Amino acid sequence: MRRKDQICYLCGKGGADSRDHVPPEMLYYRQDGIGLPSDLITVPSHQTCQEKYSLDEEYFVITVTGGSFADKAAWAKWWNHISPRLKTPEKKRLSKRILNACFPVDIVSKSGIILGQATAVDIEIERINSIIGKIIRGLYFHHNDKILPFDIGIKILTNLQPEFINKSFIEGYKRSFPDAEFHYRGVHREFTYSFFGDIIEDKLTWFFRFFNHYQFFCVLKKLEPET
Ligand SMILES: [Zn+2]
Repeated sequence: MRRKDQICYLCGKGGADSRDHVPPEMLYYRQDGIGLPSDLITVPSHQTCQEKYSLDEEYFVITVTGGSFADKAAWAKWWNHISPRLKTPEKKRLSKRILNACFPVDIVSKSGIILGQATAVDIEIERINSIIGKIIRGLYFHHNDKILPFDIGIKILTNLQPEFINKSFIEGYKRSFPDAEFHYRGVHREFTYSFFGDIIEDKLTWFFRFFNHYQFFCVLKKLEPET
């Protein structure tokens, strides 16, 4: 076993006894009998380090799937996998928590006419950000064979709807940073990612897209020592 296979990408210590999926494995569960795709990214970790994130991961997958109803694959996943799971007795508290976070909103036309009502959800953004940060750590390890230094801060700029990061946004971004290398990895509908910048230098910008819908824009930056 190579040494890097023993280092846990979450805590940076040796003795990794497991591998963790990046992004969370649960995002890929399918009900059509074909199981998980065989080419998912995994990185070494301690089982105990992974477990600390398991509730947030579940919340994350529920949120990005439930919030992507415009996407057919997300819709199917919700009804076939997540909705039945939320009805089980073990998930009673979680489903209650999500239901309590739902509130009605008016759908208003551009001219100000109320067209009807829809349901919005107060998203627990710190749980979402915790998993986005974990995904960045995982991808960083995957591409760079070392852990993301702990003095690198991760700024998650926003949680965006699809119209924002489109082709022209990305082209414009590339033009602003002509020396930065651009990498695009689009493998599965559930998750695609791109990154700009020099991964060795820890100056990186990441774009994540889930189900062709939810998007995240994240910047890594060395933290200035506090004075
Ligand atoms: Zn660990």
